[in-house]
Amino acid sequence: MKRATALLIILSSFLLVSCAKSPKKSEEHFPAMDTYITVEAYGENSDKAVREVRSRVEYLEKLWSATDENSEIYALNHGKDPELSKETLDLAKYSLEMSEKTDGAFDPTIYPVLTAWGFTTENYRIPDSGELSELLGNVGYKNVVIDGEKIVLKRGMMLDFGGSAKGAASDYCAEIMRENGIKSALINLGGNIYALGERTDGKKWRIGIADPENPSENAGILDVSDRAVVTSGNYERNFTLNGKTYGHIIDPKTGFPADNDLLSVTVVSEEGRLCDTLSTALFVMGKDKAADYWKAVGGFEMIMIEKSGNIFVTDGIFGDFSSERAVFCIDNAE
Ligand code: ADP
Ligand code: MG
Repeated sequence: MKRATALLIILSSFLLVSCAKSPKKSEEHFPAMDTYITVEAYGENSDKAVREVRSRVEYLEKLWSATDENSEIYALNHGKDPELSKETLDLAKYSLEMSEKTDGAFDPTIYPVLTAWGFTTENYRIPDSGELSELLGNVGYKNVVIDGEKIVLKRGMMLDFGGSAKGAASDYCAEIMRENGIKSALINLGGNIYALGERTDGKKWRIGIADPENPSENAGILDVSDRAVVTSGNYERNFTLNGKTYGHIIDPKTGFPADNDLLSVTVVSEEGRLCDTLSTALFVMGKDKAADYWKAVGGFEMIMIEKSGNIFVTDGIFGDFSSERAVFCIDNAE
């Protein structure tokens, strides 16, 4: 009898310890930034943290939406001279810097061309070459002037943060989590992921990398901690006409949707905004140029899925990526 009681006490104290060890989980799920957002956080302040994250994303969307008539970007794009928030100025500066670094493969002034293809209204069409070359006359990050607290756009130019907003937002979200003492969280802004810390079992987060040809399935799994993971591909927003598929990532040099040997590019780094801008730019570049960029510039890792089905992974994350497909390592040896 005594032994049984002792065992019970031991058992119940074990249960207490293990309950105390499992941290509180809080979640938010909501539509914003033209996508569906899910946030989960673990820890004492998780309720407060996820609520703050949600309101920050909603706030940033109000600043940056290209279609909301009350946004700062809408005002800028319609010839007004709005007072700009620090967030908008920061993202504009960063986007222009990344345009420069990617030699214009990333260009936040591509919006008039995107509109002509119908991507902003879903009234899809193929603009003719005359129309495209006229519109490309209004495109060019080099013509955007940031003068103190003001952004000056030439007539006909428009800014669009579609290729950078979600990544930049994920950085703000991660910062809010950290400020709240959260050590484990997963922030998913429609495929722009920020995996904060590790899972509560101490293992890395397991992030599915979508199969571009069948996006509800994964082409592989990446194990990460404390990293943003962002994928760009033409499989999410596109239309098919006469058997050809046109996607929403535009090559600013031609005005046509990027169409090369790649189906998707995933970029992994500590910074969501770097991942977001780069995944768009590297998708425009195609496999060889993207690999050259990684070798020359670095500061990030990537996974490229080729039209052939083959997968190419840079050596810094090669060991953390698993897939049933043929996976090739890109390294700096040469
Ligand atoms: P998603 O929005 O699906 O995560 P991306 O981050 O690649 O995908 O962003 C694509 C969006 O970026 C487009 O919908 C458009 O708003 C904008 N965009 C398209 N082409 C470019 C480009 N070359 N440079 C910068 N932004 C672009
Ligand atoms: Mg992007």
